[in-house]
Amino acid sequence: MPDLVEQVIEHLEYSRTRGEKYVSLSLANVQYLFPNRNKSPSPEPSVKVAPKPVPKKRRPDGDSEAGTNSSTTASTDSFDEPNLNVSLPELAQVVSHCNRCRLCHSRTRTVFGVGTEKASLMFIGDGPTHKDEQSGTPFSDNSGELLNRMIEAMGFSRDEVYLTNVIKCSPPIKRPPGDDEVPSCFPYLKREIELIQPRVIVLLGPVPVKALIDKQGISKVRGKWQSFNGIDCMPTYHPSYLLRMPAAKRDVWEDLKAVMRKLGK
Ligand code: SF4
Repeated sequence: MPDLVEQVIEHLEYSRTRGEKYVSLSLANVQYLFPNRNKSPSPEPSVKVAPKPVPKKRRPDGDSEAGTNSSTTASTDSFDEPNLNVSLPELAQVVSHCNRCRLCHSRTRTVFGVGTEKASLMFIGDGPTHKDEQSGTPFSDNSGELLNRMIEAMGFSRDEVYLTNVIKCSPPIKRPPGDDEVPSCFPYLKREIELIQPRVIVLLGPVPVKALIDKQGISKVRGKWQSFNGIDCMPTYHPSYLLRMPAAKRDVWEDLKAVMRKLGK
C-alpha cells in the first residue's frame, strides 16, 4: 500500500508539472474516499485530517529517540556517527556488519555502491530492491537496465560512474525507506560522497532529494541545480518511475543533458 500511495503522489506531481490542475474521480471513488460525507458531495469537498500521533521510536542500541511525524530526513542529530574515516572497500565492510536500523534483521546482505572511485558522475537512488539484494549490486533490476541505457546515452559506461542508494538494505516489503532508516544510513552515503568526490550527483527520485538537499516534492525541484557540500546536484525522476510513466523520459533527458553540459560532454 505505501508503494501504491507513493506512485499516486508521484503521478499527481508529474501531472501538475504538465499543467493539469484537476483529476476526475468517479462518484464511487469519492464515496470510498469520504465515506462519512453526503452521497452527493459538493464538487470541492474540504475534509480536515488530523495528523496521527507518532509513537516514540527506539534505536537498535536501546537509546530512546523522540518520535517525529515529519517525512524522511537525513538529520543525524539523534545518532552518534560511527567512525567512518576509512577507505571505500573498508566502508563496504563496515556497512556489511551494520545494525543501526531495523532492516538489519530482515536483510540477507547489504548492497553497497558500485563503480569507480574516480567517477566524476554519481547516481543516488532510494534503496536496493530484492533483486539488488540477491545480486549484491544496486540497480540490477529493470529500472537498472533503463539507468544503464541513460548512462550510455550520456556517453559513459556503467564502470565510469558510481551508483549507490540512500539506504543499503532492502526493506522486507516493497516500500520507500522509512523515516528512521534514512538518518541511520546517511553517514555511509555521506562518506561515500567524500571518498568519491564527484563533480556532479544525479538524485534519482524524492528520497535522495529529501536526504541530501532537504526538499520535498521531486517535481518542484526536478531539473533545477542544487548543491550538497559544494557538489552540484541534479534532481530528476527515478528510472522505476519512468517505467511506469514513459512520458516523463523527455524531462529526464533534458536534466541529463544539463548534467552533460556541466561535465563538458
Ligand atoms: S539500511 Fe543502512 S543503517 Fe540500516 S541496517 Fe542497513 S546499512 Fe545499517
